[in-house]
Amino acid sequence: MNVTPIAAFDDNYIWIIHNGRHNSSDPQDIIVVDPGDAEPVIRAIEANGWQLRAILLTHHHYDHTGGVEELLQLSDVPVYGPAHEKIKGVTHPLNEGERLDFDDIDIHLQVLDTPGHTRGHICYYGHDSLFCGDTLFAGGCGRIFEGTPSQMYASLEKIRALPKETQIYCAHEYTLQNLGFAHIAEPDNREIIERTERVTILRKEGKPSVPSTLEEELLTNPFLRSHQPELIQNAGTFSAQPLTQPAEVFAVVRAWKDSLD
Ligand SMILES: [Zn+2]
Repeated sequence: MNVTPIAAFDDNYIWIIHNGRHNSSDPQDIIVVDPGDAEPVIRAIEANGWQLRAILLTHHHYDHTGGVEELLQLSDVPVYGPAHEKIKGVTHPLNEGERLDFDDIDIHLQVLDTPGHTRGHICYYGHDSLFCGDTLFAGGCGRIFEGTPSQMYASLEKIRALPKETQIYCAHEYTLQNLGFAHIAEPDNREIIERTERVTILRKEGKPSVPSTLEEELLTNPFLRSHQPELIQNAGTFSAQPLTQPAEVFAVVRAWKDSLD
């Protein structure tokens, strides 16, 4: 499986999934994840001679779904999305554990329910890759708009349990800002400082800082590190009370970042 980013709006990424095997006589089938804007996707389809095969949506926010209608005018393809959200155009509502098998192009994904950012948010996992929308970001996580902190914590724990080599395809370029907060939350964590240096160089070169790997996130993302003593202590200082449960630590760290955004 190959994955190509398309930049949209100020800081969104629309991910294009294809199987990397191109027979030049046929247009290559692609699956598009979270097309908030149709225009850059259509430009890329035309430039590469691609054929749209399916649309995958992680949640209902407009910057992830706004291009669906226009893409459907171009090709009438199936649209997969969360069963627990109302999204115009979705033909295949999905729940936890369901599988998407595009056998002829050898792409196989499974659905994880990851509520928190929105009530019905889902992620797509397969081929050592996670398309996680606005649940997990490089160095951060989505704001909790509709769910509760404990739901979001459980969703991130589900992601934390995936293999370390999993590539994290999140939907926004927020990495540097996120690492700025990560450094405040864990000033002694060298991995955060070194990652910030790496990402700063990438961004100066105009390159995306994503995908990352889950392993990198486990070392540097405070929202996956609620069991780490330094973070527990600093979150306790912020909330002015001792914290014992990892879910409490997560909730405080999320509120702490919200207070600085
Ligand atoms: Zn969102």
